[in-house]
Amino acid sequence: MEHVYVIHYHEIALKGRNRALFLRQLQKNICRATKVSIGQVKIASGRLIVEIAALPTKNRDVSNFAAQNLETSNFSSPRNDIKLALRRVFGISSFASAVLVKADYDEIQNAIKTFILPSLEVFSTFAIAASRGDKQFAMTSHDLEVKLGDFIRTEFGKKVDLTHPEVTFYVEIFQGGALVYIDKIPGAGGLPVGTQPKVAVLLSGGIDSPVAAYRVMKRGAPVLGVHFHSHPFTSRASIDKVKELARILASYGGLNKLYLIPFADAQKIIVQKTAPKYRVLLYRRLMLRIAEQIAARENALGLATGESIGQVASQTIENLRVINAAAQLPVFRPLIGYDKEEIIAEAKKIGTFEISILPHDDCCTVFMPKNPATRARLIDVEGEEANIDIAALMRSTLAQCEEMIIKI
Ligand code: ATP
Ligand code: MG
Repeated sequence: MEHVYVIHYHEIALKGRNRALFLRQLQKNICRATKVSIGQVKIASGRLIVEIAALPTKNRDVSNFAAQNLETSNFSSPRNDIKLALRRVFGISSFASAVLVKADYDEIQNAIKTFILPSLEVFSTFAIAASRGDKQFAMTSHDLEVKLGDFIRTEFGKKVDLTHPEVTFYVEIFQGGALVYIDKIPGAGGLPVGTQPKVAVLLSGGIDSPVAAYRVMKRGAPVLGVHFHSHPFTSRASIDKVKELARILASYGGLNKLYLIPFADAQKIIVQKTAPKYRVLLYRRLMLRIAEQIAARENALGLATGESIGQVASQTIENLRVINAAAQLPVFRPLIGYDKEEIIAEAKKIGTFEISILPHDDCCTVFMPKNPATRARLIDVEGEEANIDIAALMRSTLAQCEEMIIKI
């Protein structure tokens, strides 16, 4: 008998011939997140199994077991660090702390009696949900459900309730054995990070861009953060915030580098040489161009921002088009159709909100014009840019950029 975590995936299952590749990436990511060795994470027909500890195999009754309180056999306190880590691994649809036994009815029943039942609080109703992936197993899943149900009902005086059970006992028969568990924990969903090429995300320190980064990572792309700051015009608060946000994003396993780019000199030139109403668009276009250079350095094949249609003046469809035109790489905007409230809810869920709302001077609020253009035309914006040596400005800005490895 073994104490394991069983891991289920959903979208990977649809990947046809690429499935093995996706699974190996998920296996690697699980190892990295949980700090277990690769040998402890098994790919096992339709699921992954993380081996944690051997459990005593002797037949013990419930009271004996409770008295033991051995750390390795204490099923009620599974390795919590592993559980927390697994919640943040993309590609997992759900997972559970489980007992792995031989695919044998008596062993399954014994696992329920010895390990699962003693870990439960008081309950009165239950259901069994069995699945038989290995058709060599003699009993059908229905037979298994009936027999185990009878056992729990008669031996422990519990009632079957198939619609609203207080406890569901899950039993999975597969080629490598049988898994028994009770708590199915929802996973982060998405696809394993590393199954797509890298994306450079423009991280502002606000609420939206960290959520955009999360969404990109969730689809399997590692990200690198690119932050423009106006130090010394502003304090270093935005830098500290972005570092902290990057650390939170890194805890999902998809970000390990942050570029900090001094933008004050470039802003000064834009302010001096161009019409005020186009300033923000000119900042954004320059940001995209610089981010694109960094993307090339880092082998990133796309850019991403936290923009959403109409959220602020620079994000009207006309202005987004003008911004886009500065980039060669695709610009991904995962939040394009989100309301601010939806973005805030997601920021809270992923843990970035509390950092994002700390005060800082946004680099673009410095020299903010009173009446920004809401329907800029590309030709006018390009006309303004003709007053600036963009290539020289990019070179001098990039020469000052700072690169940071983000550790969790
Ligand atoms: P956010 O909450 O992400 O700052 P926002 O609603 O404040 O978004 P804007 O400030 O217009 O919107 O920024 C739009 C997008 O441009 C941001 O989501 C981000 O991707 C990028 N961006 C803005 N400022 C910066 C910055 N200083 N550094 C890097 N990217 C930035
Ligand atoms: Mg902002």
